Amino acid sequence: MVSRRNFLKKAGLLAGSTLVTSRVAGAGLIGYRSPAKAAKKLTFSFRPYEVRLKHVFTLAAGSRTTTPVVFTEIGCDGHTGYGEASMPPYLGESHETVLNFLNKVDLSQFSDPFRIEEINSYIDSIAPGNFAAKASVDIALHDLTGKLLGEPWHRLWGYNPANTPFTSYTIGIDTPEVVREKTREASEFRILKVKLGLDTDKEMITTIRSVTDTPICVDVNQGWKDREFALEMIHWLNERNVVFVEQPMPVEAIDDMAWLTERSPLPTIADEALQGPSDIVKVYGAYDGINIKLMKCGGMRAARQMVSTARSLGMKVMIGCMIESSCAVTAAAQLSPAADWADLDGNLLINNDVFDGLKIIDGKVTLPDRPGIGVVPL
Ligand code: MG
Repeated sequence: MVSRRNFLKKAGLLAGSTLVTSRVAGAGLIGYRSPAKAAKKLTFSFRPYEVRLKHVFTLAAGSRTTTPVVFTEIGCDGHTGYGEASMPPYLGESHETVLNFLNKVDLSQFSDPFRIEEINSYIDSIAPGNFAAKASVDIALHDLTGKLLGEPWHRLWGYNPANTPFTSYTIGIDTPEVVREKTREASEFRILKVKLGLDTDKEMITTIRSVTDTPICVDVNQGWKDREFALEMIHWLNERNVVFVEQPMPVEAIDDMAWLTERSPLPTIADEALQGPSDIVKVYGAYDGINIKLMKCGGMRAARQMVSTARSLGMKVMIGCMIESSCAVTAAAQLSPAADWADLDGNLLINNDVFDGLKIIDGKVTLPDRPGIGVVPL
């Protein structure tokens, strides 16, 4: 609860900003001033970057050592909101497509960053798809508005930061020796994530189990093609302290997934099978839950809608991320108190982060006590 004195102090610091006028008006203290008269135009800039992985990252679709990202900044009244687009190859976006999209964005036509619906509609109208590019604008807008309000987004959404889940930590597919080494390095984590979907699946699990009994969640990345085989694997995993199975079968195999989920002793989670809020209906009944990622759905606003929709359908919720900097991971973490599981380790897998943000303490997602998405540039 903000005291009236602090409130006015903040208001004084932010004098003239849109936010203060609307916030104070909402509190009934003074009359409302039109934001258009009080605020200046929004400024927008962006730059490409490449995050480098500590270890070669291998999953069913291939291996890689870097991921292209683009950082965005939206400015208003002396405040800067930060955003990020991350482009894993399987979503089809790249430096080229994101820079091309962002070059078409003209935010100078807007003066009130709180009109996120209006700004997002404009961004959507530029071109279909381009979800990572759109997310980079949406995240920066959320960061900016949170800063103008002086509050972190988890608080504006009504979540208790003490309710954040443990995050899983990914152990990539590798030789048994390297897998054992990576597993030992991950001893602080309470859930490990293992990428399956190759013919080494049982060997991977057995190797990790030779080092630790820590619960494991598995991500098959569509790697199992036959439903009987998938069910057999899930029963085998269920005897080895596995928590859930993510995207076990190909996206198109929706009937097979419904068959599998009905029989599976472990929850099944859709990842590649859905992108944004309107896709939940496609996976409802075929999976037990969904993996929400800002780069798939287009940002924090869509992600929050997905949490609400999934919950109203009785589905499980997981918040995930891509290989990306602490900027986008911390933005996603703002939603994590609402999730059953978090897979927010993307920033931990890189060695050239440029933001300070969420921390993982004793394996638990720990949100920074900072306004907006809670990051500061390093
Ligand atoms: Mg996945």
